[in-house]
Amino acid sequence: MHLIKSIKSLYVLMVVLLYSSSLNMEHSFGAHNDKVVVIFRYDDFGPKSDMLFNNELFYIFSRLNIPLTIGVIPFINNNDQNSSNRFISDELSSEKLELLARYIRLNSFEIALHGVSHIINSSPGDEISEFKGIKMEDQYKMISSGKEYLENKLGTKINTFIPPWNSYDSETVKVLEKLNIRTISAGSNRILCPSTKLNFLPRTCTIPAIKKAVDIASQIHGEDSVIVVIFHSYDFKGINNTISNKKLSEFVNTLTWLSEQENITFKTIDQVIADGGDYGFDRNRRYIEFYNSTYVKYLPNKEYINSRLRNIYPSSNSLNIIKGKLHLIIALHLILLLAALLCVGYVLSRLLLQLGKR
Ligand SMILES: [Zn+2]
Repeated sequence: MHLIKSIKSLYVLMVVLLYSSSLNMEHSFGAHNDKVVVIFRYDDFGPKSDMLFNNELFYIFSRLNIPLTIGVIPFINNNDQNSSNRFISDELSSEKLELLARYIRLNSFEIALHGVSHIINSSPGDEISEFKGIKMEDQYKMISSGKEYLENKLGTKINTFIPPWNSYDSETVKVLEKLNIRTISAGSNRILCPSTKLNFLPRTCTIPAIKKAVDIASQIHGEDSVIVVIFHSYDFKGINNTISNKKLSEFVNTLTWLSEQENITFKTIDQVIADGGDYGFDRNRRYIEFYNSTYVKYLPNKEYINSRLRNIYPSSNSLNIIKGKLHLIIALHLILLLAALLCVGYVLSRLLLQLGKR
């Protein structure tokens, strides 16, 4: 009976350890005073975008003194295969170019190239993409035409590329390097190009998840941990497919709350890169591999990872801390399982012994 008691005590201890560790993981990182960097990435400013909304949005960001990275689509495509330059058919209106030029002067607005005409060039059934699978020479023509156009019209250098639908391939990376683009901001794509010098700053969350993202980034080491909030005009649309003033004012409240937090710094994508730090291929690869790894998918606190940790782009250091915690949880689970098996085995053997005596 002494052995049963010992096993029971061990079991209870493991349960307590396991749950205090896995369920309260968020509290066990400890508090840090590092700055949390928040980037706002507004996609789909293009020939077809709503001028009223653009005006209102830019005014809000400038009034609150919050930098903004604008993903600009320079052209509309008529998809005329016979045209001498099939990628260009229409462009940004002078009104839109003037609006962009006006806000660039504030120094806290960055113009990024968001594709060329944001059309689907992929085959039905494949990943939706403007660039993936396109020959490198064609990608070069497309991206250079968009980059040159914006640089000439706006008198600013384009350093950031945002592929439509966050989709691209290793040829895109080579083209961006050739064109001296510094950074690509996409999603969690697995791309093989280890020798690239390009910087990677992926999107991490949408507007509803901002507070959760800030919360978790404040709890782990903030060093180089970045939050990239991606949004579109359609995020603010109401029932009539028009911009909802309620949604817009809620967004203003969120922005105001953020700007009141002492540990938050706002930057554009290019400001983050210019300030230095590790944003290379390797960090991006480790980040993607971590979230796609099999063991993360089977963790008991998977929800916690998906709903909170995924909202930030952790530094390599932060990612190591997170991995360490998760490995501990897995180890505790295995020990718990072993203890349970020992208990069952012991009880069964006693029962068999009793039956044998009769
Ligand atoms: Zn887009």
